[in-house]
Amino acid sequence: MRILVTGGAGFIGSHLIDRLMADSHEVICLDNFYTGHKRNILKWLDHPYFELIRHDITEPIRLEVDQIYHLACPASPVHYQYNPVKTIKTNVLGTLYMLGLAKRVKARLLLASTSEIYGDPDVHPQSEDYRGNVNTIGPRSCYDEGKRVAETLAFDYHRQNGVEIRVARIFNTYGSRMLENDGRVVSNFVVQSLKGQPLTVYGDGSQTRSFCYVSDLVEGLIRLMNSQHTGPINLGNPDEYTILQLAQTIQNMVNPDAEIIFKTLPQDDPKRRRPDITKANALLNWQPTLPLQEGLKLTIEDFRNRISSPEAQHLASI
Ligand code: NAD
Ligand code: UDP
Repeated sequence: MRILVTGGAGFIGSHLIDRLMADSHEVICLDNFYTGHKRNILKWLDHPYFELIRHDITEPIRLEVDQIYHLACPASPVHYQYNPVKTIKTNVLGTLYMLGLAKRVKARLLLASTSEIYGDPDVHPQSEDYRGNVNTIGPRSCYDEGKRVAETLAFDYHRQNGVEIRVARIFNTYGSRMLENDGRVVSNFVVQSLKGQPLTVYGDGSQTRSFCYVSDLVEGLIRLMNSQHTGPINLGNPDEYTILQLAQTIQNMVNPDAEIIFKTLPQDDPKRRRPDITKANALLNWQPTLPLQEGLKLTIEDFRNRISSPEAQHLASI
């Protein structure tokens, strides 16, 4: 099949492309390189079945494809809050144009939605029928509400125009290739401990998250895309940790002498988050396979190589 991956030069997108290329598909990667990098897809650049298009999805584009994995959108709070209006445009206009493209060429579109649509949840764990608790005017709304509108658009194109959609609600995902300056918690703690800097826990660290390794997530995305289930379907690892536990785990694995310091908790930071994956399990026969310790080992190794190797430092600078 000919498959379009928007946001394909990013963290999850590039891992997804590796899988799609290995499965002998023809892949078009579309990215504006805001948080993505050419180095993530470097190995495919000369491949005859791979095409890279530098394009911003807030502008329309005409392409002919069979499937669209629609991932383009900065995912780290630091990056999506840097230019919030742009984040909303990316989620609303970008998704609108991709759905228009899907409608025109009769392609199936998978939307990378997020657990953030549940906001600061007052139901725990979160199942797909929970409608969420989102602040419409806070600093996270550009992303949370943007993704909620993206879901609405997807379902309206489906009901009104018969576009085949798949909606994945992705929970916190981590792994190799995250940016050093990504700003999300796993990469922050790993980079800080490798560099001998204090690990910055926001608040008292009692807030929880559930962390899924990227290869497990990619498997879930591919299964959902090729299933008969429209979704929404939660994809994430239900093992829940406090942020302080995560800091201590990474501290023990990398540098037991590293200090842990406490900083102000950002506004509207969700207090608890854990996916109910009953649906993914029943409908896609999917569940994560990599426990946190093993995924962290791979992630730490990847950052260690990047931080210490001059070649990697050079690649990071281009
Ligand atoms: P990422 O920031 O690494 O990747 C996003 C990619 O989209 C980057 O390559 C970026 O350059 C590109 N992009 C951003 N705006 C664009 C635009 N206007 N036009 C074209 N390209 C643009 O993030 P990620 O972690 O790989 O996340 C990928 C998707 O998965 C996002 O849609 C995100 O919302 C969703 N998601 C991720 C997580 C997670 O924990 N990683 C959780 C929930 C949802
Ligand atoms: N966090 C932290 N220190 C950091 C970065 C994040 O304590 O250096 C906290 C953050 O406040 C949140 C959790 O870790 O409670 C997860 O943050 P992240 O930005 O990774 O994702 P999200 O909040 O979107 O789930």
